[in-house]
Amino acid sequence: MLELVQQGAPDPMFTLKKIADADNDPRKVDLGVGVYRNEDGRYQELEVVRRAKKILDGLDLGHDYASTTGDEEFLRLGAAVLFGENCEALISGRVSSVQTISGTGANSLGASLIASTVPSTKVYIGLPTWGNHVPIFQHAGLEVVTYDYLDSTRHAVDFENLLDNVREAPLGSVFVLQGCCHNPTGVDLSPQQWGELAQELSTYNQVAFIDIAYQGLGDGLAEDATGLRTLADAGLEMLVCQSFSKNFALYGERCGALHVVSQKSWLAEIVKDQLRSIIRKTYSSSPAYGSRLVKIVLSDQSLRTLWLKKNRQNLLSHIDAHHIPGDWSYLVSERGLFSCLQLTPAQCRTLVDHHHVHLPENGRINIAGLSEENIERAAKALKSVVCL
Ligand code: PLP
Repeated sequence: MLELVQQGAPDPMFTLKKIADADNDPRKVDLGVGVYRNEDGRYQELEVVRRAKKILDGLDLGHDYASTTGDEEFLRLGAAVLFGENCEALISGRVSSVQTISGTGANSLGASLIASTVPSTKVYIGLPTWGNHVPIFQHAGLEVVTYDYLDSTRHAVDFENLLDNVREAPLGSVFVLQGCCHNPTGVDLSPQQWGELAQELSTYNQVAFIDIAYQGLGDGLAEDATGLRTLADAGLEMLVCQSFSKNFALYGERCGALHVVSQKSWLAEIVKDQLRSIIRKTYSSSPAYGSRLVKIVLSDQSLRTLWLKKNRQNLLSHIDAHHIPGDWSYLVSERGLFSCLQLTPAQCRTLVDHHHVHLPENGRINIAGLSEENIERAAKALKSVVCL
């Protein structure tokens, strides 16, 4: 039998990573895989994760099996990050949440749910997209229909084309959309377009499948969820794939969730039970380590404030409080984990040599390295080099 096995489809990102990892040239710049790196090009752990690990260590929770659908408190906190605490669908019990093997697992589980419920469902995917979308839905046995997501002449979403597809697709089709920070184009729908899309999806009875792998790395946690919250508020049936790989830098821990929004709470119970059944026969339960860390952070107010974007706002507030001259507003308009402080190489060297504030000469700082404990010291040091 095994002589009949065929080679798997090549994975361009995997090949790229292998070549980059094997390249020992000091001039190497690895811009391939979507992982935040520190100044040495290595993995960068978030300060908040470092702290959560210490707390987790003290809890000594052991390594028992996790339940099939996952840790309920982690799921409740994760759903609130996505939909917002006051989301009607959450409050009325219309959301079925289960833990998954990160975002990829959430996509795959969602595809399995669709395939096992209505196998003839057509899945609409705008191209270009994350390289795994089409294979995941095809692997689940579903028919994938592709259309152009991008109007490349304007470098904008080809929104009319998306709406045309929504109108022309058979009723009950699934539309796979990325919640924010579109991979690979970086081009997202505007809040207004999300509103129009919600209306059309509702009119044509289509199902939204939102993959959100970068919440918090765009404009902020709530802002990045605007699209999916608009669809949820419109009362649509939808599936949402949540990943904590990027926004917690927990890539290898495979931490995520699938949240399915039904139109009735009694349906949500059945959906959750079906998800339980699929998980049981595929991987039984999800890894516990990452979700324990995320739960610790999300349930602790001071750790939450340390998490991502808040650090930018925090630094700006401290800079304002110390009346440090200059326009620092770029700190909160930039995105992601890094920021380039507009300092001279000499100022950066002074920070390192005299203030133990370590940063390279180009001023690029890892925002996640700031904490409530060190931010005041960092701001004072900054003031002393700027006001020299
Ligand atoms: N969805 C998108 C759009 C992605 O870019 C990625 C990762 O690159 C994922 C999902 C899955 O990531 P993970 O399985 O690590 O959560």
